[in-house]
Amino acid sequence: MDDYEVVVGLEVHMQINTKAKVFCECSTQFGAAPNMNTCVICTSQPGAIPILNKRAVEAIVKTGLALNFTINKQCMFSRKQYFYPDVPKNYQITQAEPPLCSKGKLTVIVDGKEKVINITRIHLEEDAGKLIHEVGNRKLDYSLLDLNRASVGLMELVTEPDINSPEEALGFLTELKSIVEYLDTSKCSMEEGKMRCDVNVSIRPRGQRELGTRVEIKNMNSMAGVRDAIAYEVKRQKAVVESGGDIVQETRLWQAQEGITKSMRSKESAMDYRYFPEPDLVPFDLPDAFIENVRKQIPELPKIRKARFIRDYGLSEYDADYLTSMKMIADYYEKALNILKDKSADNLSTRKLLANWISTELSARLNTAKISIMESPVTSQNLAELIFLIFNGTISGKIAKTIFEEMYEKSANPESIIKEKGLTQISDELVIIKICEEAIAESQKAVLEFKSGKERALGAIIGLVMKKSKGQANPQIVNKILLEKLKK
Ligand code: ADP
Ligand code: MG
Ligand code: ZN
Repeated sequence: MDDYEVVVGLEVHMQINTKAKVFCECSTQFGAAPNMNTCVICTSQPGAIPILNKRAVEAIVKTGLALNFTINKQCMFSRKQYFYPDVPKNYQITQAEPPLCSKGKLTVIVDGKEKVINITRIHLEEDAGKLIHEVGNRKLDYSLLDLNRASVGLMELVTEPDINSPEEALGFLTELKSIVEYLDTSKCSMEEGKMRCDVNVSIRPRGQRELGTRVEIKNMNSMAGVRDAIAYEVKRQKAVVESGGDIVQETRLWQAQEGITKSMRSKESAMDYRYFPEPDLVPFDLPDAFIENVRKQIPELPKIRKARFIRDYGLSEYDADYLTSMKMIADYYEKALNILKDKSADNLSTRKLLANWISTELSARLNTAKISIMESPVTSQNLAELIFLIFNGTISGKIAKTIFEEMYEKSANPESIIKEKGLTQISDELVIIKICEEAIAESQKAVLEFKSGKERALGAIIGLVMKKSKGQANPQIVNKILLEKLKK
């Protein structure tokens, strides 16, 4: 198998996160009733003139700067001719040469190794409308056309053929999505079709310089799908080559259910599109001040934030990676941390505890409910309070879990639940001594074992104390008292 090298280049389309479309003032809102977000421009009425949305240019320049691109100040557009049943004007306004951004790069880490992936370009173009072939489960014998998406701004990012495995492709897309979410230049949701990807795959004998013939897999709409489609395509191409056949340059479609790619059509070449300068949009130069102003809007990016979390908060690589993978998670964490600071309870152990609660208890529940941390019923304020109560010994970690359940169900703060349920930790030594004495009296076997040197037997006695106290006895005090009593 390893006689061949896998070569992959990605073309990623991301819907630009602006309120208005790119060449008119219609809303980009997802899920509106069909054709509600349309006007003479985005329905391609004869004679309608496109007007460029400045915010869309800003978003692309911002993305380009964050990915180390050279920004081309010359801003101009081209017509790409095509028969588009979902674009009545039968051409797409896009950018040929120059694109807004040239020669960027993104470093990804795969299997612990750094890999630089060069990105050829990012350009601005308009999205197409949507053909509808079925309503509900009913297949139509005609097609409906929804132009809500027509002329929504897209940024198209094209990589060099620098990706050499399905995992590198997945790593690239994951990192790209994370950065773009930080920049807020696209919502990047593959489920809503706001991020789509064409995958170009070829193989070549290891050591050969020349690239093999590529196959393009169009319109992938899930990250795992990209990885699986590449893996499938590599296997298929090897089988073709090894049985003496030739790879045909073509466009294929990924059939997610069957896990295979299927031939769709032979590939058109750039010549077929007959690009020419868009006469309705005059070329212009981006002012330096515009670019510098965009540069100032770039926030701290995930890699730098992760390094800071490790350095300043003493978090593990794993925790820092989890927290900073999405901006909203990192923001939630730092908000909670600030509350702990205000309570003078910000130290290494509370920082780690907080990270842990977010990456386990909270994320598990949010995942099950399929909601984001921004919609979490447990606010950063309330989670900070809970950590504070563990830190100052009011509750044990075990009770905290019970309280957390209620906090999540009722969007309540921990204090009110503790009061309501009487769940405060018992730290009164006299009370604990009494429970310990009972537990010792009822665990003769474990006591004998412990006294004959089996330290582990202590666990059973502690367990009984916790059971008797309904989990409320302070574990440190229990431990101390049991040892005192048993060593006598
Ligand atoms: P088109 O616009 O016709 O799809 P491009 O030349 O812009 O073609 O290339 C599209 C993508 O295909 C780029 O990401 C590029 O890196 C990738 N690519 C080009 N040649 C190969 C190849 N032989 N194998 C794999 N990927 C390739
Ligand atoms: Mg292509
Ligand atoms: Zn419009």
